Amino acid sequence: MHRFMPAYPRLHLLPGKDRSVRRRHPWIFSGALAPLPEGLTEGEVVEVYDDAGEYLATGHYQIGSIAVRILSFAKVDVAAPFWREQLERAIRWRRQLGLGSQGETNMYRLIHGEGDGLPGLIVDIYGKVAVIQCHSVGFFHVRAELASLLVELMAGDITAVYDKSAATVPYKAGLDAQDGFLLGSGDTWTGQEHGLTYQIDLAEGQKTGFFLDQRENRARLAHYARGHKVLNTFCYTGGFSIAALQGGAALVHSVDSSRPAIERTRAHVLHNFGPEAAHEAFATDAFDFLAKPPAEYDLVVLDPPAFAKHRKVLDRARKGYRRLNRAALEMLPPGGILFTFSCSQVMTRDLFREAVFTAAAQAGRRVRILEQLSQPADHPVSIYHPEGEYLKGLILGVE
Ligand code: SAH
Repeated sequence: MHRFMPAYPRLHLLPGKDRSVRRRHPWIFSGALAPLPEGLTEGEVVEVYDDAGEYLATGHYQIGSIAVRILSFAKVDVAAPFWREQLERAIRWRRQLGLGSQGETNMYRLIHGEGDGLPGLIVDIYGKVAVIQCHSVGFFHVRAELASLLVELMAGDITAVYDKSAATVPYKAGLDAQDGFLLGSGDTWTGQEHGLTYQIDLAEGQKTGFFLDQRENRARLAHYARGHKVLNTFCYTGGFSIAALQGGAALVHSVDSSRPAIERTRAHVLHNFGPEAAHEAFATDAFDFLAKPPAEYDLVVLDPPAFAKHRKVLDRARKGYRRLNRAALEMLPPGGILFTFSCSQVMTRDLFREAVFTAAAQAGRRVRILEQLSQPADHPVSIYHPEGEYLKGLILGVE
């Protein structure tokens, strides 16, 4: 059926403020906009024009510093066929990567916001359940529609869709968002990563339930782990620990300050490797643990939470990374290996490397970079949105 293009509200840019959108950056900042049309409501689809009246983009309007999140750079009717096309595209790319019900990894990110051309939307798949996480009011309004489309397009692969947006939609929008199932239901959800089984706690888990972005880096750890005594700090539910055991580690110690995460880590080890696994988990502060380690380790993983979420606290974060990496480097014997990460966006690749470099110098160790790590292909970075690159890591050889 032919549809007429709806008349979306038109927002105009101030003179000279069109450069970034012409370079396909997916955000328009509020300071770039001329006074807004009356009656505009948050979450609405809007069209953006330059000051001379030329069409530039279509996106979701939101109150705040990022005023428009762009969905398309060509005029489009933002309705079911458009969403269908976007989801189909994301599904196609994940199949191309070998992710999905056919392979040995059925937990992965299906939609990664800007990286998939859908700023404000995250969709993660854990076996039979999809978790939608809306970061914008616009996506929050269409989440039920997206849920139905997902179940239809993933034909049989997923049976339920859970909405986990309560903590991520803007609080000020007053949406009274509650987490819960949009379609289907269930209590226990499991997924496979590289053939290993994880149980996902949709309601209580961090992020959407798991740190899917470390999948390939966990595989790198499995590659290095054979015969090593591994310390996995900031272990959450034990992803790196399980990978180390899979890789043949002689001993694995897991540390996280969250007790539920530690309990889940133990359950994951038990489920995948049985009661005899050479593993112990500690619910304690990682900095304290590193100061008084109960054993000697020759492979350490540091995967702390984002120390710096904002530029203002960047300095403190740099100190945090330095301190942590220094402690690990001082502890490792010659021939030791360090896997060190930062998932903070404002801590750029260069800044992170500089912090680790300073830590190495302070520790007085000879250190080589063996590998440089990043986020996996199901967490793509739009080439027009370099800010989307947030996860970086180094594998270091220490002498
Ligand atoms: N490596 C994990 C993800 C780490 S997320 C994985 O692959 O799944 C960061 C973790 O650090 C969270 O689980 C959080 O509970 C924990 N954490 C935060 N501050 C901590 C601290 N000071 N000491 C120990 N753990 C901490």
